[in-house]
Formats: sequence, structure tokens, C-alpha cells
Amino acid sequence: MENRPIAALLKGLCAMIIVMASREREDIDYVVARIEALGYQAHLIEGTQRTVVAAVGDERGKFRLQSLESLPHVEKVVPILQPFKLAGREAKEEDTSFKVGGVTIGGGVFTVMAGPCSVESREQILETAKVVHDCGATILRGGAFKPRTSPYAFQGLELEGLNLLDEAREATGVPYVTEVMTPEQVPIVAERADILQIGARNMQNFGLLKAVGRLRKPVFLKRGMMSTINEFLMSAEYVMSEGNKDVILCERGIRTFETETRNTLDISAVPVLKKLSHLPVFVDPSHATGHWDLVIPMAKAAVVAGADGLMIEVHPHPEDAFSDGAQSLKPPHFKQMMEEIAPLVSLMGKTL
Ligand code: PEP
Ligand code: MN
Repeated sequence: MENRPIAALLKGLCAMIIVMASREREDIDYVVARIEALGYQAHLIEGTQRTVVAAVGDERGKFRLQSLESLPHVEKVVPILQPFKLAGREAKEEDTSFKVGGVTIGGGVFTVMAGPCSVESREQILETAKVVHDCGATILRGGAFKPRTSPYAFQGLELEGLNLLDEAREATGVPYVTEVMTPEQVPIVAERADILQIGARNMQNFGLLKAVGRLRKPVFLKRGMMSTINEFLMSAEYVMSEGNKDVILCERGIRTFETETRNTLDISAVPVLKKLSHLPVFVDPSHATGHWDLVIPMAKAAVVAGADGLMIEVHPHPEDAFSDGAQSLKPPHFKQMMEEIAPLVSLMGKTL
């Protein structure tokens, strides 16, 4: 037999370990009977201290198996396989890579997406698109529908913002990513944008995840600021389970007790995600730190941690920005960032 992890051998199967609290024959027989009644095979493993029963079968009865933990003679029920069937490495060993316009995402290519937080005017988006493209960014970012904490803050130019992003793509040839906030907006944004962004605040908007899952356009999924890696991957699973396999994961900082930075960049999420999932992993050091002068160091850390790309906020005049000026790089600093990450990208065996 090939030397492969047990998880790979059990592909497509659900396997649970039921750890018995009791060693009484009748308690064990009762649990075995319940497992078999749910359509699973029960394999008894009797150690010197503990008895465990392995239940092997398909997915459907999984949650009912978990309910066996309520029995007094069962200590715990432990799943062996990861719950993300499509997003997980167990499903697909090789890294996922795909093309957007002419741009490759993943698969040894390091991709930089850059642009303003919000699209504000024709001049602003055209100028930014040109400068980030000249510096080596291959995807333009810009918010047309903005998820703002306050309803009184600038909400984005909406449809006009999409028109301006179309113009910027026309002018530079660079594909763009923009956020979609509601299932109703999905067809409108999907018709225009090259990549649809799901923002941190919507990472668990399951109706929205399903709606973008029905598209055949890449989805840029940002980690919720209070979400675990497991929850993040389950959100990717929502998109993929509807048929859309082109998902990009983005770590953008999580809430911690620290107040010096806007969020705390969970840099270890990068290797953890790369280990658990075959999907491309990006980092957004702009929202993670909230301060432009922290963006370059964290961008470099992201490259070396193994990220497949970056999302960076750039504004020609951050002091006039309608949103997130404090964390936006001016063009010269963006140029500096691109120069400083270049040797690190090579060091990691990737190409810019
Ligand atoms: C953004 O990318 O502009 C944004 C709002 O990011 P996040 O959802 O990560 O806060
Ligand atoms: Mn922003």
C-alpha cells in the first residue's frame, strides 16, 4: 500500500472516533449498535486503559454520530478528518492556481493587488491604477460598495464606482477586484469585476457566500476579524460547495487586546492555511496594521511566511482620502515596497 496519511486513504469517507467512558460490555455493545443503526461500520479498539470505537461511513450521519457524546458512557466523539472537504489539502494535495484576465494567481506566482480603499473620482482611480501598474501590481483594487462601520461615513460611489473601475481597466489593461456586500449586488458586480471580494464583515454571510459560489468568477475571501482559521476555511467551503472552486484566502488581521495597531496581523495564519488548504493565500497588511509605515515591514513578513500575494491600499494623496487614508501608501512608498519584496519573493522560489 502507498504510504499516505490515513486522511487521504479515508477520502470521501467520514470517520469518527468514539472514546468510551465505560468499559462495560453492554455499554460498548449499545454504542456499536447505535453506530451500525446509523449506517456506519464500527471497529472496536480495546486498549489497556481505554476502549474506542471507530465509526467509518459517509458524511450524512456525521452530526448524529456527534450526538452520541451525550451518552453517559461516552467520553467524547472526535472527528478524524478535517470538516473542509473541498478547501482542505485532504481533498487536493497540489496548490490551486488559476488565471484572471492574463494574471496567474497561486502556483508559484506572487501577485500584488493594489489601489485605493474607495474609488473616489475618475482622476483618483485612473492615476492610482496607472502608478500601481507601473510599479508592478497586476491587479487593481478599489471599493465601489463600501462596508463602513458608521452609516454616516462615505458609502462608496456604487455603480459610478464600477464604471470608473471599468475605465481604469480599459486604460491600463489591469483586471480589478472589488467588494460585493449583498446577494442582490452579486449579479451587478459579477458582470463587471474580474474578482469579487467578500469583506471581513461578511465572511459569515452565508447567503452571500452561496450567491458568489454559484458564479464562475474568482472570489477574494477576507478573514473575519473575529473568526478562527477553521471558520474561515468553512466559509471558503460554502463558496466551493456551490461549485465555484476559484477562491483566494486573505488574512487581514484579527481583533486582539492590542491597540497600537488597527488589528493584529496573524502572520502564522499563512503557514497554517497553506498546510490545511490548497487555496492561494494572500495578506492585507494595510487593514491589518492601520498605519502606512507598518505596511512595508508586514508585507515583507507575509512574503517570507509563504503568502501567494498581497493586497495593498495605495492613494496618490492619502491626506485627502475618503476612507483609510492613514493606512494608504503613497506611490513612492508603494514603489519602495515592490523593490524591497522582490528579492524575498525570489528567495521563496516565486516569481513576481
Ligand atoms: C477593504 O478591503 O477595503 C476592506 C473593507 O477590508 P476588510 O473587509 O478586510 O475590512
Ligand atoms: Mn480600506
